Amino acid sequence: MNDYKKLINDYIEEHTEDMISFLKELISYRSVQGEAEENAPFGKENKEVLDRFIAECEKFGFKTENFQGYAAHADMNELAPKLGILCHLDVVPEGTGWTGDPYKAEVRDGKVIGRGAIDDKGPAVMALYAMKCISDLKIPLKHGVRLITGCNEENGSEDMEYYRKKTEFPELLVTPDGNYPLINIEKGMLRCEFSADMPENCALVSLHGGSVINAVPDRCTARVKDTSPEEIAECAKGIENVKFTAETEGNLTVITAEGSCAHASTPEQGYNAVTAMLRLLDDISADTGVPVSVLNSMFPYGETDGGSAGVKCSDDISGELTLVLSVIDIENGSISGKCDCRFPVSKTLSEISENLCGAFEGDNIDAQIILGVEPHYVDSDSEFVRSLLAVYEDVTGNKGECIAIGGGTYVHETENGVAFGAEFPGEDNHMHGADEFITVDSLKLNAKIYANMIIALAGK
Ligand SMILES: [Zn+2]
Repeated sequence: MNDYKKLINDYIEEHTEDMISFLKELISYRSVQGEAEENAPFGKENKEVLDRFIAECEKFGFKTENFQGYAAHADMNELAPKLGILCHLDVVPEGTGWTGDPYKAEVRDGKVIGRGAIDDKGPAVMALYAMKCISDLKIPLKHGVRLITGCNEENGSEDMEYYRKKTEFPELLVTPDGNYPLINIEKGMLRCEFSADMPENCALVSLHGGSVINAVPDRCTARVKDTSPEEIAECAKGIENVKFTAETEGNLTVITAEGSCAHASTPEQGYNAVTAMLRLLDDISADTGVPVSVLNSMFPYGETDGGSAGVKCSDDISGELTLVLSVIDIENGSISGKCDCRFPVSKTLSEISENLCGAFEGDNIDAQIILGVEPHYVDSDSEFVRSLLAVYEDVTGNKGECIAIGGGTYVHETENGVAFGAEFPGEDNHMHGADEFITVDSLKLNAKIYANMIIALAGK
């Protein structure tokens, strides 16, 4: 593909230990969102990891600019930047279940294990070394390349909002914060809140399930009059993959449903404890109120395509719409909840909002949209996308093709941005989970891909 492939391979192999040791250092900062301080809008550790990262860029001879701790960039040459590589240095909290210290990265069985290894400190290091490689090998470029690093990707991307107010993005944007081969479609997103009055003297005394709007809820609890643990056990038999328990508490039966979590963009991977509970409550003989029946028919347990809420749709390039009832509560005589919908590029936000709100209102449930984002799409036939896929095929020997996701990345609201890497097909790097890792092989392969990408998009 280009004359420099062998030189790049050798360079990356020679610098693997340097990449690993810099990655380990970055992982040692617990850059979870924290209290804002001066020039540290997302907390002290985020400021420090950003400072450390740009100090390294400076050491490599790249000119940098720090945007008040929101984000920073590094230019690999004096030319006007045409290609921008967007990475983030903030991480999600470590959670539980680690076999080692999440912030003292180790290399075990060919893997660098630590929080941020794949999301997204590893990719930031690989992109930096790809730039250093092209620069050290003195490979001539005709355009500038800019590495942009932010500190708020995991909590709303306020970093990029700020950055864009201060400066423009380069024309071509790549974020190594997703999957290979290449993500050119990110579905639209809509979040909705609803509420309805519960009938007086209803047998359903309390209901509580789910905590975050962007996940399939794994737990739901209800307190019900006029039933028994025996009846619950009988009705629960027909509901698969969710575990129900019931016990007597005075004149009430306390029912707990336990399913399994999944991200709201891939709801088919989880078992929704809230919709399972609604089905159970609607099935038992006690009167649990009309709103429960209505919600059970709009969000039947096991359905994730919004069919019963009147929003089912799909297209060839982005796949099916997904709809998740993620939170439910009864308080002060009112039942309320939240749902999360991801819709294909062939639909607009207003079409989907209208249909979904219409379905609620037709059943006397008040609903309002609390967040709406149009889908993101970059033409799979564009020269930009085709060049990236060609690089992927050339370096990995595997077939390159575009994929669609329900989640959103840094480039969602940009004109011409795609996610390219860093997870390879079939890999599970425990992103956001315990023992997050990147293999040393993937680390090298990514750096080689990004170096070749720089030549393909900015080379002579
Ligand atoms: Zn990320």
